[in-house]
Amino acid sequence: MNKSAMLKLDVESYTVAAQEVLESLETGPEGLRDEEASRRLQEYGSNRLPAPRRRSATMRFLVQFHNILIYILLITAIITAILGHWVDSGVIAAVVIINAVIGFFQEGKAERALDAIQGMLSPQCMVVRNGRRRVMAAEALVPGDVVFLQSGDKVPADLRLFSVKELRIDEALLTGESAPVGKTGEPVSSGAPLGERFGMAYSGTLVTSGQGSGVVTATGANTELGRINAMLAEVQLLTTPLLRQMEVFGRWLSFTIVVIAGLTMIFGILVRELSLAETFLAAVGMAVAAIPEGLPAILTITLAIGVQRMARRNAIIRRLPAVETLGSVTTICSDKTGTLTRNEMTVATVALSERMIEVTGVGYDPHGALCDGDQSFTGEDEPDLLELARAALLCNDAELEEKAGQWTINGDPTEGALVVLAAKVGLEETRQRREFPRTDTIPFESEHRFMATLHHDHAGHGFIYVKGAPERLLGMCARQRHEGDDVPINIEHWHQQVEALAQRGQRVLAIAFGTARPEQKTVDFHHVETGLTLLGLVGIIDPPREEAVRSVALCQSAGIRVKMITGDHAATARAIGAQLGIGDGRASMTGPELDGLADEVLLERAQAVDVFARTSPENKLRLVKALQQAGHIVAMTGDGVNDAPALKRADVGVAMGQKGTEVSKEAAEIVLADDNFSSIVEAVKEGRTIHDNLKKSILFILPTNGGQAGAIIAAIVFGFVLPITAVQILWVNMVTAVTLALSLAFEPPEENVMERPPRDPREPLLSPFLIWRITFVSLILVAGTVGMFQWELHRDVPLESARVAAVNTLVMGQIFYLFSVRHLTSPSYTPSGLAGNPIAVIAVGVIVLLQLLFTYAPPMEHFFGTAPIDGQAWIRILGVGMVIFVVVEFEKFVLRQNERSASSRGTLPSQSSR
Ligand code: ATP
Repeated sequence: MNKSAMLKLDVESYTVAAQEVLESLETGPEGLRDEEASRRLQEYGSNRLPAPRRRSATMRFLVQFHNILIYILLITAIITAILGHWVDSGVIAAVVIINAVIGFFQEGKAERALDAIQGMLSPQCMVVRNGRRRVMAAEALVPGDVVFLQSGDKVPADLRLFSVKELRIDEALLTGESAPVGKTGEPVSSGAPLGERFGMAYSGTLVTSGQGSGVVTATGANTELGRINAMLAEVQLLTTPLLRQMEVFGRWLSFTIVVIAGLTMIFGILVRELSLAETFLAAVGMAVAAIPEGLPAILTITLAIGVQRMARRNAIIRRLPAVETLGSVTTICSDKTGTLTRNEMTVATVALSERMIEVTGVGYDPHGALCDGDQSFTGEDEPDLLELARAALLCNDAELEEKAGQWTINGDPTEGALVVLAAKVGLEETRQRREFPRTDTIPFESEHRFMATLHHDHAGHGFIYVKGAPERLLGMCARQRHEGDDVPINIEHWHQQVEALAQRGQRVLAIAFGTARPEQKTVDFHHVETGLTLLGLVGIIDPPREEAVRSVALCQSAGIRVKMITGDHAATARAIGAQLGIGDGRASMTGPELDGLADEVLLERAQAVDVFARTSPENKLRLVKALQQAGHIVAMTGDGVNDAPALKRADVGVAMGQKGTEVSKEAAEIVLADDNFSSIVEAVKEGRTIHDNLKKSILFILPTNGGQAGAIIAAIVFGFVLPITAVQILWVNMVTAVTLALSLAFEPPEENVMERPPRDPREPLLSPFLIWRITFVSLILVAGTVGMFQWELHRDVPLESARVAAVNTLVMGQIFYLFSVRHLTSPSYTPSGLAGNPIAVIAVGVIVLLQLLFTYAPPMEHFFGTAPIDGQAWIRILGVGMVIFVVVEFEKFVLRQNERSASSRGTLPSQSSR
């Protein structure tokens, strides 16, 4: 087959019968063989759309200059050049360029980090190869592959459908039409619009219900999606609301700086009677000092590093603003199965009409015994048990597999547990499936909570097996199996049995049987709604995840309420909830109970109750809305296709990476790679840490600028020589930004990060506390720097040396302040406070070397007007640094005392407002 034949086919495959398409692609319902598939992969390339274009490198570089703060610097560079101060002008220009280069590389790194994280979300699909179904990366699909679709899937390539069952697909991506289209598999005439090609499923569209199988006709850029050149993933902007707040702040800051610089000039000329050139240089110095050039890049990198850290802990961020929202979450609503529990299901009990049988064995290992009290037996001894096990095995899509002595299952764990039960009872999987082939299926969906299959034996007898939630099945049954006979059902008895199993925390499934006429070839809801015979119940254990127990406790200390919202039975949910520490083991509500509640009552119940059982996706949506109305910031998990509205509505939608549908992942802000509740809690912790670190960067950088600008203003106002020149200020800003400030991006979480209440999302980033701390530290830095400068001048050292001493005082002050700032309010004079962030320690080493170079390297003299300083000066510099550390630590101590007394009086501004 050559490429042009293929292309011709994928244009017109909707007009011909599916069989014809299969033939021309040299494949069949059993799929391609692996060798052929890899040959085709070589020929057609991988099933991937060209990556969405990010800004080009040149653009990214130029954008670094597009910042009002930088504009001011550039203008000052030009004016200083006009005034003939070439060195100053050159250094300012150099700093602007170096700053752009740093920003360019840091943003590049941040973008790559995000791309890598998005890459972790590559979609999977169910393919038939060598006659067997398997889950595979959608990227590896080739034309001719046979793909199985089910509700919640994203269609992985363009497919010609050859078998469909109630298949409906949302094609809004391609057609703009949001109502899902029912697919029939029938060909339509050539030229039919895309939305009317009922035999095709197009790449990127979403399966909203039903099932289907199709053959891949086009992949990657050859698909309809590739052709209209739609980019699936939008490019993420490297920003969040808080960073935008900072941008606005930056603009205000520049405006203020220009005004203050202007006022300083006027003051200098009028009051101090300085020359225009002199005051201008001072004003330039002041503007350069006050502008935090490095801040935007530092904030971006802090965000990117945090997001990477979350990914390492299995929480993959799809939308960046979620990072901030996470830190404010007050309620986490979680699924039970697989998220809070291990999703390793084992049947522990079988309830027949007269007997309660215990099943032993662990996990999916099919070895185990069946016993009723002391008596143990096999399926042979108990025909009712044998029939129940056969139903459980046949009304089932899972397969048991042994790999290197390890038993695993392919498919749904609940169904896997039933296959294992059948093996323990003595039924052989392949033989049973051959003897009673399946003719049709009603697949399991959380909405109807049962699955039904139609079978015929070789003599032509038809029968239906149904399994599902007991409340649902008991309503369908008129009779029950009792010692081989069908007798009228005793509903009351079964309800008691269900309750008894559920109270032990077991997940309960009922299994039933019905007959069908030999000629019946399909099974529909009306075939199973009434007249079935109940075979019995199975109770399945699914132990809670150990780490989830710890995480729930952590949430409690962090002021976050955890709610379990499950599709399972209320008693099961309560029992598992109690083991996890969610709810009190008694109070719970069910979906139908919620349905009956008025919105106002729901508002109260949603807050009071922690365990919600037998819920529908609509219940989840109402619960999220109610909790939000009550002022909660809600993280909500979901996996099914119908969970999408609740995930979108929640403040942080969390989808499951493994068992979640593609539809739910698209709707979510975060995807959990390991489906584990603990990863949500880790993400919350990281979210809080990122917020802290952003705050710390601001708290660190702004006082530096404030201190420098203050020193210059002081010089003009009090009429002494500038203690630091403009270019020296630029040096300080550059070296501290790339060493000390950057190290804060790597700051580990504070010890108490999960012991304080969630942050109020309305609280501004520059809270009164931050403004106070910035002003306070700026003033100490001004005092230290100016004091040292004056001291040195009084010792009669040359002006250049006094300035170098002032610069070194400023840097030393920052080194000590870095350690203070690492803990916002708790003490920093602890081992972890001093050495808890190795990068900070390295940064200090680097900056000390740079300052020694600055002070003693001869070329620096030319650029920065430096001159060496003596040992005495160093001792004083060190002293000033220590004083700053002690003063800030004392301020923290006072704050902690105030806070303690405020919280004991109940008038807190809590730590979270810091
Ligand atoms: P969660 O919402 O916490 O993930 P869940 O997995 O228990 O909970 P569902 O998958 O909606 O929720 O299952 C609801 C009920 O449907 C189960 O309690 C069980 O009785 C029944 N059930 C689950 N899986 C199957 C299946 N494969 N076939 C038939 N019935 C099933």
